[in-house]
This record gives sequence, structure tokens and C-alpha cells, in this order.
Amino acid sequence: MSARPNPESAEHVVVNALGEFLASPPAGTPGDVIEALTLMAGNAADPLPPRLFFEAVEQAPSAISITDARARILYVNRAFELLTGYTRDEVIGENESILSNKATPENIYQHLWRTIQGKQTWTGTLVNRTRQGGDYLAELTIAPVLEQGGGLKYFLGMHRDVTKVHELEGELRRQKMRIETVLDAAPVVVVLLDAEGRVLLDNQACKKLSGELAGREPAQAFSAALREQVGLDPLVECLSGRAFKDLEISIAAPGSSGPRWFSCSGTPADELDPSARGFFGRQKKGERRMLLLANEVTARRREIERAHLENLRARLAEQQLTHSLHETMAASIYQIQAPMNVIQAAAALARSGSASLETLAEMLEDISRSGTKALDTLKAALPEGPREPGVMVNVNELLRQVLELETDRLLAAGIVVDWRPSHLLPELPGHKDSLRSLFKHLIDNAIQAVNESGRPQRDLLLATRSVDGAVEVAVQDNGRGIPFEDRYRVFEPFYIGWRNRRGRAGMGLPMAQEIVNAHGGYIEVDPDYQDGCRIHLTLSAVPADQ
Ligand code: FAD
Repeated sequence: MSARPNPESAEHVVVNALGEFLASPPAGTPGDVIEALTLMAGNAADPLPPRLFFEAVEQAPSAISITDARARILYVNRAFELLTGYTRDEVIGENESILSNKATPENIYQHLWRTIQGKQTWTGTLVNRTRQGGDYLAELTIAPVLEQGGGLKYFLGMHRDVTKVHELEGELRRQKMRIETVLDAAPVVVVLLDAEGRVLLDNQACKKLSGELAGREPAQAFSAALREQVGLDPLVECLSGRAFKDLEISIAAPGSSGPRWFSCSGTPADELDPSARGFFGRQKKGERRMLLLANEVTARRREIERAHLENLRARLAEQQLTHSLHETMAASIYQIQAPMNVIQAAAALARSGSASLETLAEMLEDISRSGTKALDTLKAALPEGPREPGVMVNVNELLRQVLELETDRLLAAGIVVDWRPSHLLPELPGHKDSLRSLFKHLIDNAIQAVNESGRPQRDLLLATRSVDGAVEVAVQDNGRGIPFEDRYRVFEPFYIGWRNRRGRAGMGLPMAQEIVNAHGGYIEVDPDYQDGCRIHLTLSAVPADQ
């Protein structure tokens, strides 16, 4: 039989206070507190002897204290001593406020006291100070213990240090904030979906798009578009562990002038098993998620579509021009046929001497009429030159562009290009397209000249320099050259000096001269250059047509 506890002893206080408490736990006492204290007391049918019950409280891992009804400490256990740094001798008889670091707001204490004086259990967090002066966060439960008559007899306090938990929670919050800040700053739509396609996390760009789609969930819109337009179910792909990248889809957006285009990428994301079994790496297979990224590419798409349309339009216009030129030429050839026939008939008549002068005159008039008609048809078919607006042009840049365009032809002809642009070249007012076609024509001539020369070593030199505010361009090749006596004739219309005349009309250099003149300059064949042909042209800062 165990000895009866001394009414004044710690054992008496503990057994008495906890016994009363467990007999009728006050409202609001957390279940785990009741459970922990019940375990120490043994079960109701077979209670532990008081000594063992006391020992269990002594050794309990939580800091336990028992006070009188005014918070004066009657008992503290080992864990309380270890946590607070106070020995029991130092705190018995003191108020629990000895633990206060005076940083807990007054209203918390008021609520604490209102609750426990109302005979209910209070649970909350206070900032405590140890004997050594260190602060810690105490998660505290205070339960009132009533005497037989119902008055307050003891308060039972249990607390533990939750500083680390608080720090970890703070770190977690900060991490979350950092991630959210980065995600929200990203201009792309970011959504994390679970296996059922529910949104777990999204960023500002996604929320904004949802507003623009009149509340439609962007992830759903992207998934539907990927299924319909690409034939891929993004969720099925990612749940099977397959990522996809840069798939372009369009979605209809209310209020937008056309569809909006997005480049979508999806990545499977496995979440770790947070349960305890994962500690040694034996986690269960975590839940698989899908991280969906969508980057709006509408502007780029529209630009591509616009360029494509422009290209198509230009090709159609070109085709139309060629077609109508062909038709007009055919008509003119047919119309010229008539005066030719009459000329032949008139010539035959004149030779035989059988036609009167009057008849011959009539025939000549007929020839004149049908010839004029054919000429009119041809004149009407002459295409109008494009009117290009004048801008400031950089001759080096235009020459470089033409060289790039001509690269394949130059390589095919085995020509070595010596490109010597002047680094200090003034910009000139000019017409870019006309100047490009001028340079292209001169380079095309150089290619034909070296091809016709049959030389094994083929060179083309292009040089620019600034002369009194104007720009001088030299195009020099080591081809067959232009005979000295032809150096002016080559600028006459319809003059053709090439051996291979195919596709040549003798209008290239006259047109080149016209372009140079329109730019207030002049063009000439250098008479002193003997090793091929060197063309000099000057473009003035004041164009002739401005
Ligand atoms: P105090 O002047 O003591 O109290 C501040 C306010 O609390 C008062 O303005 C008043 O509104 C209220 N109050 C204080 N005493 C009473 C009372 N007897 N009746 C009605 N209202 C009252 N405090 C801690 O800081 N850390 C602890 O770990 C801690 N553990 C406790 C454990 C138990 C079992 C009990 C009963 C109390 C505990 N307290 C604890 C509360 C402590 O007793 C003090 O009330 C508190 O520390 C504030 O002390 P103070 O000197 O700053 O101000």
C-alpha cells in the first residue's frame, strides 16, 4: 500500500491538482493535453499509485507548472526547469509573470485571465524569457482546477518552446512570398495543375488573362486548344511523364480583333511525399502535377502573317505585270504583223512596177496607221516606275544588302569579292529601292563580264568613299572590259555588247544612269582602267528630283 502524500508536498499538489483536473477537464482543454495527462495518471479503472503518477509528471517532456488561484507557483517539473533555466527553488512562491519578457501585449493577458477565471482552459502563445535572458516563444495551455465547492483552486500550466516552429513557419512564408514575387513578375502565364486539372497555383499573368477571357480559366482554354489544334492532351502527356515544348495554339478572346496566339510548354512535376516514411527516402509515389507555361506570341504571329500577305501581294502583282506585259507584247507582235505584210506587198508591187504612186501612197498610209496603233499598244503597256519616298540612306548598308542577295551567284561564278567600304560615309537623301537595283545591275554586269572573260582568277572590288559631302562608289571587275570607244555608247538605250545577249535588252546601264542622275550624281566608265572594267559613280547630297 502506497504512503499518503504529505498535504504540503509537491507530490500532494501534483496528485491532487491533476487528479481533480482529470476528474472533470474544463471546457476548451485541448484533447492532446487531456490525453497526455491521462497517460501519466494511468487509466480510470486501474489508476497508478500516487508516487508513480508524480514521477510520470516529473519526467514529462512538457514544462508543467501548478499555481494557486493567483498564479503563484506551487510546483514545476524537470522540463520546466530545463526550459526556463530556473530551479524549482527559485520559482516556487513566485508569480508566473517571472517568465514574461514584457513583450506580450496586455490584451493577451487580459484574455488569458478572463478565460481562466471564467473556469475555462486558455491556449495561446506568449513571449517568455529564460533565467539567462534568452527569449523564446511559449505555446501555453492553462487549465483551471476547481475545488469541491466549485471555486478556483489551482491553475495547471503546460508549455513548450515553439520558437523553431515559428522560425520555420516564417521561413516558409518568406520562401512562398519570394516564389510568388518571382512568378508574379514573370510575363508568361504560369499554372500548376493537379491530376484532375484543378488549378493549385497560378501567377498574376494568369489571373489577368482570366479576366480578359471573361472569367474563363486560361489553363482550360489552353488544354482545349492543344487538344483541338495540336491533337495533344496536355494533362495526359504530363501525367505520363512526357513534357512538351513551344506548341503554338490560338484562342478566341472576347473584345480582341482576332485570335490570340500562345506558345505553350508543359512539364510533369512530381510532389514529394511529406509523410514521415519519406524521411529515409522510402516515400510513396508523390502526386504528379503539371506545370503549364504559356507565352503570348500574338504580335509575332501577326507580324509573320502580315509579312506573308505582303509577300503574296508582291508576287501576285509581279505575276500580273508579267502576264499583262506578255499579253501586250503578243498583241503588238500581232499588230506589227499587219504593216509588215503591207510593206512586203508594197515592195513586191513597187518592184514589179504595176502599182501606181497613189496605190503605193495608200499602202504607206495603211502601214503608218497600223504601225501607230501597234506603238500605242506598246506605250500603254509601259509600266509606271514605282514612286518611292525619299529617305536618308546609307550607301554602305545598301551595297552590303545587295552583296548578300548576290552571294549565291558570286559563289557560283567563283568570284572573290573585295569589299572596301569607307567608315566615314555621310547619309544621303535617296530612294533605297532604286539605289539597290542600280547596285544590283552593276554587280550583275560584273558577274557576266568575268564569266565571259573565261579568266581563272575572278575578282570584284566594291569601294565607297566620301568626296566633298557626296558619296563615290567604285565597282571594278577583272572581266572582259569595255572597249575605250564604247565607254559612252554603253549608256545608250538598246546597246548590247555582250556575247551572250539572252535576257538582255540593252536598257540596264541607261536605267542605272537615270537613277544616278535622279540622285544628283554621274556615272562613267573609267577610261584608265585596263584590266577589266571599273565603273565610277557619284551620289550627291542634293538629289536632282528633290
Ligand atoms: P500583470 O500585471 O501580472 O498582468 C497583466 C494583466 O493580466 C493585468 O492587467 C490583468 O488584466 C491580468 N491579470 C494578471 N493577474 C491577474 C489576476 N490575478 N486576476 C485577473 N487578471 C489578472 N505569463 C507569461 O508571461 N508567461 C508564462 O509562461 C505564463 N504562464 C502562466 C501559467 C499559469 C498557470 C498562470 C495562471 C499564469 C501564467 N502567466 C504567464 C501569466 C502571468 O501570471 C502574468 O499574468 C503575466 O505574465 C503578466 O504579468 P505582468 O507582470 O506583465 O502583468
